Amino acid sequence: MNFAISAWELPSVPIHGTTERFPVRHIYCVGRNYAEHAKEMGGDATKEPPFFFSKPADAILAVEAGQRGRMHYPLVTQDLQHEIEMVVAIGRAGVKRTAENALELVFGYAVGLDMTRRDLQNQMREKKRPWDIGKAFAQAAPIAPIHTVAQVGHLAKGAITLLVNGSERQRGDLADMIWDVPSTIAFLSQMYELLPGDLIYSGTPAGVSRLVTGDRLDGSIAGLTPLAVDIVA
Ligand code: MN
Repeated sequence: MNFAISAWELPSVPIHGTTERFPVRHIYCVGRNYAEHAKEMGGDATKEPPFFFSKPADAILAVEAGQRGRMHYPLVTQDLQHEIEMVVAIGRAGVKRTAENALELVFGYAVGLDMTRRDLQNQMREKKRPWDIGKAFAQAAPIAPIHTVAQVGHLAKGAITLLVNGSERQRGDLADMIWDVPSTIAFLSQMYELLPGDLIYSGTPAGVSRLVTGDRLDGSIAGLTPLAVDIVA
């Protein structure tokens, strides 16, 4: 390929137990997928259809097992917040799936953080403008190694937690998702053809809060490699 400017490295995520990596194509995110978090964001827990937003693939901050990622405190915001989430990695193309055959598309699962410039997101919400400035920016999508379905099966229950500086800020259970993974894929695949390399950040439990430079984040989901990220200047 004869590119006019230097091409960049394809964003990718380590795969647990192998030297292979998962190339990232597109990052979808589910909004308000746990009732208690929907409440803290000023919504209610009624079963409205899920809604989605995106982050660019180059928002990935892939953290190797046993290491701590370094996220630079992002530009502009005064209110960077953490959202611990299970990430679903898509390994096969599929469109217009039903919940019954949705899981066939799943390659594996990982612990992720949907990092959010909350002040900017809220300003855009109030003005009925797109959320991008609050959600899509450099290093906005930290992620730990992906565990394949062959390694962990399909995750539908189990604790999901986030510690900041050793104190628990978020705790939930995957079983508390308003839209479980099969339903989420079914909805999303009505609107988009899902493709190998896509990631779905599946929503966060309650307890999101403000971070400052120097904070140390430790996210975990039962059965998966934990995600450690430090916020640096
Ligand atoms: Mn989120």
